[in-house]
Order: sequence, then structure tokens, then C-alpha cells
Amino acid sequence: MTRIQSIESLNKKITNCKKCPRLAVYIRDVAKNKVRRFKDEPYYGKPLSGFGDVNAKLLIVGLAPAAHGGNRTGRMFTGDSSGDWVTKVMHKHGFASIPTSISRDDGLILYDAYITAAVRCAPPQNKPTRDELETCATYLQDELKILKNISVILCLGKIAYDATCNILKIKQEKFGHNKVFRYDEYLIITSYHPSKQNTQTGRLTWMQWSAVFTKVKKLIQKT
Ligand code: SF4
Repeated sequence: MTRIQSIESLNKKITNCKKCPRLAVYIRDVAKNKVRRFKDEPYYGKPLSGFGDVNAKLLIVGLAPAAHGGNRTGRMFTGDSSGDWVTKVMHKHGFASIPTSISRDDGLILYDAYITAAVRCAPPQNKPTRDELETCATYLQDELKILKNISVILCLGKIAYDATCNILKIKQEKFGHNKVFRYDEYLIITSYHPSKQNTQTGRLTWMQWSAVFTKVKKLIQKT
């Protein structure tokens, strides 16, 4: 296996990846057959690398880019409602320079945080297959090797949590919102994913969401 030298070389590898045929076709098709509301916008339509502060202590693991969010804008949690929630709360707690995430050139800078995902290509219905998750897991593994200062891993949703536990080979505890446990050098914290299904139904309220980041800050201070 090729040794990953830097985050730049890893990100280049991710961007050019076509290991999952179903997803490679899907993201290309979504980019070609745009939805009406974005019909005049260019779509990125490629796998997404992570982004943020390479010296960060906090790693945020999402599920996958959204078909018309990250797959359109070219950056994770950018241009959709999940991204709105993620960036607003990160700004509130001092992890982001601005409270919005609209496009790759919007000036957003992350402080002490790096954002990534279990799967780098938008999957149909936000549901990657087991094979796709396993195939893409190597990139998360590589990121953890390269990002040397990570001490707190925030998993957004059960799929991100399962993927993180699998790569770290953790015998996992049951997934739940705002739970924390230690594994080796990492403190792992779990949250419901800030998807529309969760935020619009009240399964994840703003107060619950913000409380996760209050806890994350405390955990970082302890490490
Ligand atoms: S999901 Fe991951 S492994 Fe599969 S094609 Fe996309 S980047 Fe490659």
C-alpha cells in the first residue's frame, strides 16, 4: 500500500477515487441532471475530501456529502441545511470564522476542527451500502494517521459512529445522543445527525445540538 505522505496527497487521491461504481455513476448523474432550484449552478460532482485545520484537536465525522449540498458545492456540509446547522453551531462555539457555509470560496475557516465523513461520494437516499462504507473507510483511517493532534472525535449519526468504531476496532457501545467514551488516545462523542429529518421533526433541537459542542469544548480542554 502506498504510504500517505500528506493531507494534500490523500485529498488528491480521494478526489480522483472511483472505487465504488454505483456512487461514481450516481454523483456524475446528479451533477448532470440538476434539480430545478440549482439548474444554473455548476455542480462539483466528485468525491469530497475533508477540510479544516490540519492541526486540529477535534475531528467531526459526518455520514456522506448530500447530493445537492456537498456534491454541488464541492465542500462537506456546504450548501444545505445540515451544513447550516454545523457551521452555525461551530461559529457559536469558536470553531468557525463565520456562521454560514455556502460555497467553497465563502471564506469559512475552521479553528481547531477538521470535518470529514464516513463516505466521500453522495449516496442515493443518503444510504451507502456496507461495501461502500468498507471501501471508503481507508480514507478516514489515513486521515487519523495524518492529523496527529486529534483527541476528540464527534460522530454525527449512527453510520458515522459505526464507521469510526470499525476503523479503530472498538467494541462499540450502543449509539445514543451526546454520549462520551474514551478509546485509546481519543475521546469519542456521539450526536444525532443534524439532517432535516432530525432537525425539522424535533428529534434534534438547537439546544441539544449546541450542548454537544459545549461538551466538545470541555473535552478538548481536558486533553
Ligand atoms: S465512496 Fe469513497 S471509496 Fe467509494 S468511490 Fe467515493 S471516495 Fe472512493
